[in-house]
Amino acid sequence: MTFTHDVVVVGAGGSGLMSALYAREGGADVAVVSKLHPLRSHTGAAQGGIGAALGNEEEDHWLWHAFDTVKGSDYLGDQDAIEVLCKDAPRTVYELEHYGVPFSRNKQGKISQRRFGGHTRNFGEAPVRRACHAADRTGHTILHTLYDQCTKQGVRFYDEFQVLDLILGEDGEAVGVIAYEILTGEIHTFHAKIVCFATGGYGRAFKTTSNAHAGTGDGMAIMLRKGIPLEDMEFVQFHPTGLYRLGILITEGARGEGGILRNSEGERFMERYAPTVKDLAPRDMVSQCIFKEIREGRGVKGKDYVHLDLTHVGDDVLDKKLPEISEFSRTYMGVNPKEEPIPVAPTCHYAMGGIPTNADGQVEKGSRGTTVPGLYAVGECGCVSVHGANRLGTNSLIDLVVFGRRAGMAMAEEINEGASHAPLPENPEEWTRNELDRLMSVTRDEGEPTVDVRTDLQETMMENVSVFRNDETLTTALEDLKELRKRAKNVVVDDKGKQFNTDLMDAIEIGFMVDYAEAIAASAHRRTESRGAHSREDYQNRNDDDWLKHSLFYSECDGNYEFAEKDVVITRFEPKERKY
Ligand SMILES: Cc1cc2nc3c(=O)[nH]c(=O)nc-3n(C[C@H](O)[C@H](O)[C@H](O)COP(=O)(O)OP(=O)(O)OC[C@H]3O[C@@H](n4cnc5c(N)ncnc54)[C@H](O)[C@@H]3O)c2cc1C
Repeated sequence: MTFTHDVVVVGAGGSGLMSALYAREGGADVAVVSKLHPLRSHTGAAQGGIGAALGNEEEDHWLWHAFDTVKGSDYLGDQDAIEVLCKDAPRTVYELEHYGVPFSRNKQGKISQRRFGGHTRNFGEAPVRRACHAADRTGHTILHTLYDQCTKQGVRFYDEFQVLDLILGEDGEAVGVIAYEILTGEIHTFHAKIVCFATGGYGRAFKTTSNAHAGTGDGMAIMLRKGIPLEDMEFVQFHPTGLYRLGILITEGARGEGGILRNSEGERFMERYAPTVKDLAPRDMVSQCIFKEIREGRGVKGKDYVHLDLTHVGDDVLDKKLPEISEFSRTYMGVNPKEEPIPVAPTCHYAMGGIPTNADGQVEKGSRGTTVPGLYAVGECGCVSVHGANRLGTNSLIDLVVFGRRAGMAMAEEINEGASHAPLPENPEEWTRNELDRLMSVTRDEGEPTVDVRTDLQETMMENVSVFRNDETLTTALEDLKELRKRAKNVVVDDKGKQFNTDLMDAIEIGFMVDYAEAIAASAHRRTESRGAHSREDYQNRNDDDWLKHSLFYSECDGNYEFAEKDVVITRFEPKERKY
């Protein structure tokens, strides 16, 4: 079937819903196409908070927020976009409040704010309370509220439709997407004046991750296959505190409320590395420090984890401000955080890189200004770039809503100015149909189970492309990926049925995973410096002379790829050495 809408948003997380809502309020006819039911999007798992300099607990200023974000990004974030983010943040949080997000309150009845890593007062003086939150279920409340608003405003939802291809018109403009309806196995064309990708992150490429199963980077891979580059893919965030072995997240809000990291000797080791902000240093640093402690033999019980100690923060704080993580640690680890410390280790968490866009969410395929007509990207799949080489906690949720809102307004404006439906190419579904037929025809004798390929991919990425990298590990990963690319083409789909054939979607997703995993490993191999979350053992210093620039990775998705570069925008804050 062909569905026709003004705007088609792919993805129903916080960024997709915010952009859909604003495009709809601006008068456009908007459809949201999502492989999950909207309320199952990963945004719903966000725990700790959304960053905005409201100053409800103590003095704060958007410029301090901007400075922290630039410094947190290890000076790779584009400062013009960061200024937009931090200036717009307070207004956008109040807007969420007015839409109905039930934020936690302080004693004066204002939105409660807590500390988070890397957020400081007065340009680095001391930690500041900037993270607005709804207990430790902040994302859940934002997602539900935005979904309610979208439904009320008449946004049309296509739930459990997985987009497999982007359709470009004669002049390279976006004209629609092709989606597989999971319930029926039907393939549909969505014909649009504007397409906006909001498909989220890619954490599932790593063995240990805080991300949900759906975090398979589909949108990024689809873009690559259409000749659109991916920016700064070498920067992968590992969150310092995942539950040991499981990777399930314990929010940084736990340290924001006073939690302390301790090694096997009970030492508060972050004091040694970051004397001013200690446990509230940014994530790249804390994850690297945890690994150093473990390597130097101070992992707890000689193993590869440390302790997150919350025993002193008080039962009331755990019950009221951190109920969910208390529950997680009891359920999954059998540890009651009121009585004993929680075993934690870094877990793959967030994609700093992604589809390059300007501050209105328009996708750019090369240098600044080279926008692709009718194509937008927002949220974690996009790269504005406000997070540079390392994102600060709470800055993703605010990125989703600030830039989601701007993209929504820009799309509505284009529609109101008369954007039209460019014609679809003949047979737009051809590639998708052929690819699905091909996958369905691989027999057991010819191929292997998807899960085997996925497990090997996750293991090589974890082993070779995680917190510390070097030439040898990255070369190994790239070689493994060449092999995995061949194997991913030859996976067996056992389920030959049409309804809910998740087996078939797994087979499609492993193809996506190989494509963007190669972007991550190759970009990391090329960048011969250490910056933010990209820590090279063989190039341990930041090198601004050669590397103060964004990487753009272009791929044929057949093992051939090339790079281009883009300057970093610097407005107010000249790069300096990063100390906390
Ligand atoms: C456990 C956890 C806790 C976090 N806590 C915080 C926090 O406290 N503060 C903070 O700022 N950030 C936090 N983050 C990060 C933040 O939540 C995410 O970066 C953000 O929610 C991503 O939102 P999104 O809109 O980009 O995508 P998501 O919410 O991930 O949604 C992606 C959407 O895309 C759809 N989709 C994907 N592929 C396809 C396809 N092929 N076809 C159709 N639809 C598709 C999915 O169905 C889904 O609706 C946390 C992340 C995790 C994992």
